[in-house]
Amino acid sequence: MSKTLFKNLTIINPIGESKLNLNTSIVSEDGIITEIGSQHSDLSNYQSVFDMGGKYVLPGMINAHNHLYSSLALGMPAPRIKPVNFVEKLQQVWWKLDLALDDASTHASFQVGLMSALESGVTTIMDHHSSQNYIDGSIDHLVKVADKFGIRIGTAIETSDRNGKKIFESALQENINSIEKYRSNPFVHPMMGLHASFTLSDNSLSTICNHLNEIDNPGIHIHVAEDRADHKDAVKRGYRSVIDRLNSAGIINKDSLLIHGIHLEPEDIEIIKSKGAFLVHCPTSNAGNRVGKLSAKTLGILPVALGTDGKQANMLNEVNQAEIIRSSHLKGPDKNIDYPNLLFNNNSEMVSRLFNQKIGRIEIGYQADLVMYEYNPNTELNESNIMSHVFGGFASPSDVITRGKFRIRDFEFVDINKEDVLANACQESVKLWKKIEKIG
Ligand SMILES: [Zn+2]
Repeated sequence: MSKTLFKNLTIINPIGESKLNLNTSIVSEDGIITEIGSQHSDLSNYQSVFDMGGKYVLPGMINAHNHLYSSLALGMPAPRIKPVNFVEKLQQVWWKLDLALDDASTHASFQVGLMSALESGVTTIMDHHSSQNYIDGSIDHLVKVADKFGIRIGTAIETSDRNGKKIFESALQENINSIEKYRSNPFVHPMMGLHASFTLSDNSLSTICNHLNEIDNPGIHIHVAEDRADHKDAVKRGYRSVIDRLNSAGIINKDSLLIHGIHLEPEDIEIIKSKGAFLVHCPTSNAGNRVGKLSAKTLGILPVALGTDGKQANMLNEVNQAEIIRSSHLKGPDKNIDYPNLLFNNNSEMVSRLFNQKIGRIEIGYQADLVMYEYNPNTELNESNIMSHVFGGFASPSDVITRGKFRIRDFEFVDINKEDVLANACQESVKLWKKIEKIG
């Protein structure tokens, strides 16, 4: 048993009654929080003791939907044909990028995406992967890199018909292999990845269902009704909606991650609720793609989680920007959407269920994933206004701990050479962009 004491901390509890606990200590035993308090005078009980100098500590944050494969897109040349709608944006940008990714550029994408996440205090990511010409072994690859960073990872690779039967079958098999291999790994939650209803035929959907029935469905991870085009496609196929189509196939269960849900109908919300599945909201991506905004009604009925859809690594920024985006749509008063609750409560409940461990809070029995900040407030900081300081004042964390171990210590990575990761990512990005240009 390895017992570590982190002392002299200011614990922030974003969703509890008592939001600020000064001069407190946390004990981590084999990566789990076993004690919180101030009575830790006999230091001989611990293998390691760290005096954190009064730093503020938040639970490690969770990104409920991300695309690490898109990490080299920053600065990418604009497409030759300017997309005028959502589907064209997929065709001209993202479906070219995921065709061009190879082993080396995928590796660089994973590394730099995970590094940015950790530097933003994100310690658990539900990833939705796509590298259409590098499928076999790609999930093993992600798991290995995530483990090096100490990040807990949800895996899924997109199945889609858009590049033909062979690629669909490879992706399906890669999901199945990862589910069998990582099902009992405490740091990995393998899922069945589907791109979206509109890029899967009835035949492909039923093939996926048949396989899921054989392996005890661990949950699907799929984009749902992100743009109206997805809804229209389902109607054209004879269904009331995308959710109606997926539900008719028998593929939605309580562990499903349904991403976006912008164009849901009231019946769809009831189906998701009755199945107990998770809806994940990605506000900055939705705004960027101009697909619409998630209705306040949906947010009121379902326990919605929060993701970034590859748009950014930082969950505190996602909350800040989500609030601004929502306000910009309004003329009069709106039912207030509690975005901090999505991040700190709903995301924690979602991954705790999926990984079958307590994740995302600073409480006894939870995983010792801790994010620490040095912070000198410009204004009075107290119990009632601490969350304003978190969202308005906190910059990068000075220390990030996962599984009870420092991953970042005083702004420096412990096991990762940041310069090497960045240099490799810059080199690979140039090669990747050239490949994308060749695709046309
Ligand atoms: Zn997405």
